[in-house]
Amino acid sequence: MKQSKTFIPTTREVPANAEAISHKLLIKAGMVKQVSAGVYTYLPLANNVIEKIKKIIREEHDAIDSAELLMPILQSQEYWEASGRWGKMGDELMRLKDRKDAGYALSPTAEEIICQTVNNMVTSYKQLPLNLYQIQTKFRDEVRPRLGLLRCKEFIMKDAYSFHDSPESLRETYNDYYRAYSNIYDRLELKYRAVQADSGNIGGSYTHEFQALAEVGEDTIVYTEESDYAANIETAKVVEENYSLPEFEKKERSLLETPAQETIDEIAAYCGVEVNRAMKGLALNADGNLYLVLMRGNDQLNEIKFKKATNTFDVRMATPEEIESMGSVVGYMGPFDIKNCTVIADNAVKYMYNHSCGANKKGFHYINVNHGDYEVSGYYDLRMIEEGDLAEDLSGPVKFAKGIEVGQVFELGKGYSESMDIKYLDANGRANHFYMGCYGIGVSRLLSAIIEQHNDENGIIWPKEAAPYQVHLLCVDVKKEEQLKLSEELYKHLRDNKVEVLFDDRAERAGVKFNDADLIGIPLQIIVGKKAGENTVEIKYRRSGEKEEISSDSVLEKVKQFYK
Ligand code: ATP
Ligand code: MG
Repeated sequence: MKQSKTFIPTTREVPANAEAISHKLLIKAGMVKQVSAGVYTYLPLANNVIEKIKKIIREEHDAIDSAELLMPILQSQEYWEASGRWGKMGDELMRLKDRKDAGYALSPTAEEIICQTVNNMVTSYKQLPLNLYQIQTKFRDEVRPRLGLLRCKEFIMKDAYSFHDSPESLRETYNDYYRAYSNIYDRLELKYRAVQADSGNIGGSYTHEFQALAEVGEDTIVYTEESDYAANIETAKVVEENYSLPEFEKKERSLLETPAQETIDEIAAYCGVEVNRAMKGLALNADGNLYLVLMRGNDQLNEIKFKKATNTFDVRMATPEEIESMGSVVGYMGPFDIKNCTVIADNAVKYMYNHSCGANKKGFHYINVNHGDYEVSGYYDLRMIEEGDLAEDLSGPVKFAKGIEVGQVFELGKGYSESMDIKYLDANGRANHFYMGCYGIGVSRLLSAIIEQHNDENGIIWPKEAAPYQVHLLCVDVKKEEQLKLSEELYKHLRDNKVEVLFDDRAERAGVKFNDADLIGIPLQIIVGKKAGENTVEIKYRRSGEKEEISSDSVLEKVKQFYK
């Protein structure tokens, strides 16, 4: 493609709200144009990269016998009602009505429609396992679309679905996708970790996220240096091996007036205990029921763990009035004489001794409280993991890193096939609900993730397989006849040999061309300049910055060598 003919509006102007390096570079390199918040036009260069990513995805899906199809974005409310998600998805689901007032969702994912698609079409165990995928636009009304292509309202996703007649078959396919995903991210030259994760709104239990490591990432990954353990902080388990109860002398519980102490640190100091022996009580309303959660003063509640422990969905802090109805008062909550609620505690609480806690009375705390002095209906792992905690596999202390979720694989089990009531006949002619899996990749998000990891002060440096073109051919001065002639010859020669070339044939100054070439970041530059008359050109490797003078006859060979 000739640069004078395509549309690559490079610019120095970057909007103030572009925080992420990738967002800035996408704009500077003329790859995207924002249409509205979280909605973008992918300009030709970005579109080329998307096609490259799709090609890799297709090859790796083909290798695991997953077949491509295309489902509608416009999805009838009736299917979303059937799965129960019309009510559960909240404001994130984009909803609209047609002229007959029938409801629709704009697809944020497609479990419902894939179920509807196979219903009565896949009827026998002989057709299983079945793997289908699509690469399609998705919509989610994100609270805060941001960071360029990382969090959009409209984005491109690859979503795959699998159908099975046994959990073993599902696990086998899950492992196929896991490997295919690893291959895809390897080919895109991403540094990533596959981490244990939460199954969120999709349901299911066994799941991994693929997290590309990047400071700008919104997810925190918990890992150890000692093993391949890695988990999303949302689910990283805190094991009881972290705690121990020392030898201690049990003291007598008493009430202490704490009139002016507000923060947990002040209370702990006043009560004469370290903050991990100052108990805090959190009042929550979950699905309309009240809970008192007991924790060590310095720990943070993990809401996902709380929801799992209590099997609840809709959780918020209790109001002062609700806390009053529990017989307590804000800032002084504790387990003694509490009412109208379920009391649960974090596992760490079992290992607190001679500790303080709120007395459910304004201005008072108990001190020298011990395990067994009060009632708790259950102990669970409820807190956020902290750096230095022992990892779940006990291999060593955990560290944190930031990640961008670029994909996720799920074992769904029978959740959807049961709610949507889709069945096949087994070898005995009995009707059974399918076991299902689903597998997603953030195609447009990948552009940003790649750029986050592959850039320098001059611009983007595309990995070979993701590059929008393989070669950037620069004619330094198009007014010089021998330069233009040699450039055109090379352009034709390379294209005839199936090399993807972007040919900078613009009547721009050399400096502008060089800067643009580095900014756009095509891995190889072929520069046709002053020595064109001697059939000598320069080859520049974008990543190393290394340059070499070569004969124009050897260009094709050099290019082939680089991309072999
Ligand atoms: P997140 O936690 O980042 O909101 P998710 O877990 O809700 O993502 P999935 O339902 O697992 O997302 O979707 C599959 C993939 O689609 C994700 O791994 C991610 O790469 C991509 N994706 C999800 N939401 C967005 C979005 N708003 N913009 C761009 N890509 C997205
Ligand atoms: Mg996810």
